[in-house]
Amino acid sequence: MLVVMKKDATQEQIDHVIEAIGRLGLSAHPIPGAQRTAIGITGNKGSLDRNILESLDGVLEAIPVSKPFKQVSREWRQDDTVVDVAGVKIGGPHLVLIGGPCAVESLEQVRAVARAVKAAGGHLLRGGAFKPRTSPYSFQGLGEEGLRILAQVRDEVGLPVVTEALDPDGVGLVETYADMIQIGARNMQNFSLLKRAGKSRLPVLLKRGMSATIDELLLAAEYVVSEGNPNVVLCERGVRTFANHTRNTLDLSAIPAVKGVSHLPIIADPSHGTGRREKVLPMARASIAAGADGLIVEVHHQPERALSDGHQAIYPDMFADLVEQIRRLAPVVDRDMHPPVEVPAAG
Ligand code: PEP
Ligand code: MN
Repeated sequence: MLVVMKKDATQEQIDHVIEAIGRLGLSAHPIPGAQRTAIGITGNKGSLDRNILESLDGVLEAIPVSKPFKQVSREWRQDDTVVDVAGVKIGGPHLVLIGGPCAVESLEQVRAVARAVKAAGGHLLRGGAFKPRTSPYSFQGLGEEGLRILAQVRDEVGLPVVTEALDPDGVGLVETYADMIQIGARNMQNFSLLKRAGKSRLPVLLKRGMSATIDELLLAAEYVVSEGNPNVVLCERGVRTFANHTRNTLDLSAIPAVKGVSHLPIIADPSHGTGRREKVLPMARASIAAGADGLIVEVHHQPERALSDGHQAIYPDMFADLVEQIRRLAPVVDRDMHPPVEVPAAG
């Protein structure tokens, strides 16, 4: 249920409604808006009697939230959420481009790729230190050493860092070194991980599971938000289908579908979505055309030597071309490119 206050409601009336919700044994979530305040209610088992709420002073109306997800729904909040990642704002008027290797392999590798991403106009650096590999015999990532490399390159090059945490303990490590926590497709419904990320001060990049519906993706986001962290960016990275011309099927229709029912930003990952270098650029363009708030793309200066996902990593010059093409495409969807952001060097 969402209680919408009148435009001229006083703070006293708002406080009174919050107290009344508390007395019913429920949780109140005030949502201040430019026009008026709304107060979301969670914790009810069945439906609530809206008359009780609508009879309180200053209340305009009480609206039932029809979706299974509440706080991430558009009914709960009409304005788009803008997530701030160390000064890079995802979900506003500007498109955000995230580039970097699949896995952190060495200082030299991350440095070379980060410099190229920055020079091309990318905004955030990606790179996994903990890799969720299908085979236990594949490269699992450098662990904390990989996080240290990312933090060093972040300060040298001036790009905030997003990197994956595989488990609740990993979130603590990512908080020490990085700017955004990635939760991967395989972990989209790892509920202890989601809850731990919900207690973090860092924003979360939540990737859609490879067989997850939109409702399941948004309920996973609800886990993070309901623990107190409102800063979630969703990511469409492809789902498993019968198609064998690509690694996954990048479900572009998920982008407008999510935008319709949620206020959270959504970006696309045309790298995992296709699995093939030559398909990344066309699907990147298509993602932005479909309304994505940005892209996350795997870039490697020597993809033939990459320890993971080399086939889908684009070369630095291809990333520069991608940035340029997205810059030209942006006005068609009433967007522009996010301005460059300087990360203050570590003191
Ligand atoms: C990745 O970003 O490198 C990754 C493992 O992605 P996903 O979780 O989408 O497979
Ligand atoms: Mn990868």
